Amino acid sequence: MSQIVIQDWKARAEALSIPTQAYIGGTFVPALSGKVFPCVFPGTGQPIAQVAACAAEDIDQAVRSARAAFESGVWSRMAPADRKRIMLRFAELILANREELALLETLNVGKPISSSLNGDIPSAANCIAFYGEAIDKIYGEVAPSAPDMTTLVMREPLGVVGAVVPWNYPLSMTAWKVGPALAAGNSVIVKPAEQSPFTALRMAQLATEAGVPPGVLNVVPGYGETAGQALGLHMDVDCVTFTGSTEVGKLFLTYAGRSNAKRVSLELGGKSPQIVLADCDDLDAAARAVAGGIFTNAGQVCNAGSRLIVEDSIREEFLERVAAIAKALRPGDPLNPDTKLGPLVSAPQMARVMGYIEGGTAAGARIIAGGNRALTETGGYYVEPTIFDAVDNAMAIAQEEVFGPVLATIAVKSFEEAVSVANDTIYGLAASIWTRDVKKAHRAARAIRAGVVWVNCFDKGTMSVPFGGFKQSGFGRDKSLHAIEKYMDLKAVWFAT
Ligand code: NAD
Repeated sequence: MSQIVIQDWKARAEALSIPTQAYIGGTFVPALSGKVFPCVFPGTGQPIAQVAACAAEDIDQAVRSARAAFESGVWSRMAPADRKRIMLRFAELILANREELALLETLNVGKPISSSLNGDIPSAANCIAFYGEAIDKIYGEVAPSAPDMTTLVMREPLGVVGAVVPWNYPLSMTAWKVGPALAAGNSVIVKPAEQSPFTALRMAQLATEAGVPPGVLNVVPGYGETAGQALGLHMDVDCVTFTGSTEVGKLFLTYAGRSNAKRVSLELGGKSPQIVLADCDDLDAAARAVAGGIFTNAGQVCNAGSRLIVEDSIREEFLERVAAIAKALRPGDPLNPDTKLGPLVSAPQMARVMGYIEGGTAAGARIIAGGNRALTETGGYYVEPTIFDAVDNAMAIAQEEVFGPVLATIAVKSFEEAVSVANDTIYGLAASIWTRDVKKAHRAARAIRAGVVWVNCFDKGTMSVPFGGFKQSGFGRDKSLHAIEKYMDLKAVWFAT
């Protein structure tokens, strides 16, 4: 049965038209330099497309197009109900083209086709629809000021927004930026990660088809050091919204300081703790959540629960359960709908993850599951789900973001120690705690410095709940109505009466 379906997706992949040029002013254009860069299918390591390698001059063209669209008012001053209708149509078109988009995503980043089809693509559509719905529900204020004054507090779009996104969830991360930025009335320029430009490019074309005017949504593929930096340094970009590594996020702060003091919001890395206390009353559920928390998307998740902090009295019993799940999870061809664990995104990412695995062993941690590459004969970038026991929280595998299917287990003796270890990190994106003691759950939720805390669950999320980090996991929130605030400014208008 699955064999037939595999052939089906492979055949479709061969017939697929891959967007490879920049999308500026409502049309596909090559890089002005004519340069291209290769994108490979991580399942085989084979090149599948040559994509426009845009640089500063292409970013400049996109900014001019975005600025002209903004100033014309064609979107920024369109009636809210009309913008809403277009955004809802945009969301519908994403869903209508779900299979094509899912295939583009899977070919581009190696994500299992079932995840692209049932997760990433519908979730991007849902995000666009959520912000479309919000457009005619955002009010200004009348401020209490003085008896002879009527004072309005109005919300205005910022102008031109640059969105720089990573490769792990290419379309949904793009939607998290584009949805609220467009809803606020801005023009947007997306710089996708060089590994993953396909779906953002196709999405921009669908936006035009839905009625988003030319120039309002542009996508400029290229390398971070060229296209990304040019966007960060551009004098006519009003805001950069970034998702990616902490290292590059900090660069965007310097770009802003060196140029026009544009505002910056950062969704960065994480080293999320999953705490399991001895009083947890459902170790099976906790084990499934812990394994899902680190092995989903092959661990290439900003909020991956990469540190298991477990009370020593249940450590062995608990690890057995997590290891059994890890061992049953075999990496496979991402075009097979039965595959739950695909390859890593690229050869350098695989080398980085294998480097951390070797480093963990050298530092004295003990592998109890995985630890090796898999399916090497395919040429793809597969790594087994890997679990380390006997990790010290000071080790690199406990402090640095591996961004692969690697779980570091740290044993603790008490609740207090668990919280202290959880907070002993430069990151603060997410955390979970498993306990049946409601007081401990509340204390942990308050004590852990993270943007999200899950109690007796992991990785729950809806569009209605904000997402983002504390500490070096960044600032500003994606998702929810709060995200729109990042893309609007307040203007006070005083009427003497
Ligand atoms: P990255 O920081 O290397 O790249 C992110 C983006 O920045 C890409 O578009 C890249 O081209 C660009 N870029 C790279 N170098 C640049 C430079 N010198 N100047 C300007 N732009 C540059 O990250 P990545 O490897 O693509 O993604 C993985 C990272 O993203 C992880 O650290 C992960 O935790 C993080 N992430 C965070 C969230 C979140 O919401 N907090 C979500 C997903 C991923």
